[in-house]
Amino acid sequence: MDKIRLLDLDSTELKSFCDSMGLPKYRAGQIKDWLLKGRSFGEMTNLPAELRDRLSANAVTGIPAVADVLRSSVDETVKFLFELEGGVLVESVLMKYAYGYSVCISSQAGCKMGCRFCASAGVAFSRDLTGGELLGQIIAIERHENIKVSHVVIMGIGEPMDNYDNVVRFLKNVSSADGLNISLRKISLSTCGVVPGILRLKDEGLPVTLSVSLHNPFDDERGEIMPVNKIHGLDELFAACREYVNATGRRITFEYAVIEGQNDSKRHALKLAERVRGMLCHVNLIPVNKIDGGKYRRPSRETIESFQKTLESKGVAVTVRRELGRDINAACGQLRKRVIS
Ligand code: SAH
Repeated sequence: MDKIRLLDLDSTELKSFCDSMGLPKYRAGQIKDWLLKGRSFGEMTNLPAELRDRLSANAVTGIPAVADVLRSSVDETVKFLFELEGGVLVESVLMKYAYGYSVCISSQAGCKMGCRFCASAGVAFSRDLTGGELLGQIIAIERHENIKVSHVVIMGIGEPMDNYDNVVRFLKNVSSADGLNISLRKISLSTCGVVPGILRLKDEGLPVTLSVSLHNPFDDERGEIMPVNKIHGLDELFAACREYVNATGRRITFEYAVIEGQNDSKRHALKLAERVRGMLCHVNLIPVNKIDGGKYRRPSRETIESFQKTLESKGVAVTVRRELGRDINAACGQLRKRVIS
């Protein structure tokens, strides 16, 4: 029988679990405090040894094991390889900004979306991560580095909208006052354009920042690099984005990985501006990161600047993403499960 993963539970469920073990109420609070610190049952020193043994027999914490750590030598970015139950591996990245620490977490082990330019697409899908496993990545990093994380981006391996229920459970738990208490406004969720997920999320009342990975404003061209576009085309995607903004009043971020000779022309910039006209949004240009094969190269700085200027001239809010952790392949689209020998 599978053991229960305590980090998957919200506070009420943890209390019921403790009840079912015949424990007094205050034990739930004690256990929760330890879980949020990333401690194992053996380290929960204010619990009697006999109780710790019973917990181990019936449950797991859900804190992932750190299998490998890579530190950037050019900035303070740190990449973590985590081993989850069943030997499944995922990566997360810790980034330091002026406003605090931000982590990029994985939502699935592998990805089914198949975006051609993304390293995660080359990783066979093994399974969805549970809400507790999303939370556990943050907790394990906080413990390992002895820091407090203030911002979270769900932009690691996987498509969060393809693991919707677990991601929403995570969002509720990570932001709860008796949890990590990270404000939803400091959390970004990135999708390749799974429209039904966008439409569901708009009604959840969760003020996260929605990022949409756009990368091309033309249907035929986008379909060539992003298979999801063949199911949910751009008219449908932008209609959903507009509905999302109207329902939530929140600005959407469009991620645009600029690729030399493929989506970096004035024609692309003008079409993009036309698509987002009048929408509360922001375009984030990401110089594409080379992955194995090198078919997708970043344009020159001048080309990116002129793309940016064209958008600005049409009144579109646009920034170019600063790059962290370049030497450890920690940037967007470069996360993958590595094989440890
Ligand atoms: N599945 C989600 C979240 C994971 S990808 C999504 O598609 O949004 C996180 C971001 O990295 C996405 O915007 C993705 O398109 C981008 N990305 C993937 N490969 C990249 C690459 N080689 N260079 C730059 N960005 C890349």
